[in-house]
Amino acid sequence: MSTREELYRFHPREYAGFTYVYPVLSRRSGGVSFGVNVNLDKACNFDCPYCQVDRTVPGRPQALDLARIRAEAEALLDSVDAQGVCRLPLFDGLPDAQKKLRDIALSGDGESTMVLEFAAVCRMLAEVQAGRPDLDFKLVLITNATLLDRSGVVAGVDALLSKNGEVWAKLDAGTEAWYQRVNVSRVALDRIEANLIALGKDHPFKIQSFFCTAGGQGWDEAEITAWLARLGRVRDSGARILEVQLYTLARRPAESFIHPVTPEFLSNIRDRVEALGLPAKVYGVEE
Ligand code: SF4
Repeated sequence: MSTREELYRFHPREYAGFTYVYPVLSRRSGGVSFGVNVNLDKACNFDCPYCQVDRTVPGRPQALDLARIRAEAEALLDSVDAQGVCRLPLFDGLPDAQKKLRDIALSGDGESTMVLEFAAVCRMLAEVQAGRPDLDFKLVLITNATLLDRSGVVAGVDALLSKNGEVWAKLDAGTEAWYQRVNVSRVALDRIEANLIALGKDHPFKIQSFFCTAGGQGWDEAEITAWLARLGRVRDSGARILEVQLYTLARRPAESFIHPVTPEFLSNIRDRVEALGLPAKVYGVEE
């Protein structure tokens, strides 16, 4: 049995006897989330210095076993009672209200949209959701948003969100320079903004933004202004942004030059996002 704070802090993407699906207590989900790690190879087209995936241990490249993912997801769903409360021993000791199942989330040791089977996984998870009308949970894609313009990814997202689902898309910078400092990618930041605008034509979504200092350098006013301008352009395109999630470092990052920002900094950013007319929420440094 673990305390709620321990469960929030400790998010291993593994569960005894399971390969792909893992249960976690998620502050951002507001309860229990069943994560689906389709990135056993740890592949990602970002190289964030704050990443908490341990890439000193090599990944395991292999074709995805969709039948196994489905069986693992369904086995965990069987642990949820008629009131939607997850009865796994992992969560023993928590009040029922805190361990309601909220979602099944594609959230792996890399970028889920990179896997060849992405659309097939999404369709399969939509079938799993449709097969459990007795349970009320979302399907969530957590993504760095770089590949949302690929036709196969669009098809997967459409399937995943066909009933009750959300995309949580990363937007960690306003300028290309800071983006290359904290995300390090060959995909331009402008393409991510364009992808969010395109996504917003069909689906509402949440934005996740990570704030840190890197080697003593942090978010200056120009960076904040550029980031707010991107949010404003996405909003002005007609996209419905459900929430801007603001957070900072919680666990040991890949690189020691990354440090968290202060709660006051995040509160100030939240106020400025809300001044744009967008809902924003700070998720604690402990998450
Ligand atoms: S996008 Fe996510 S998985 Fe990829 S490097 Fe960044 S934090 Fe790690």
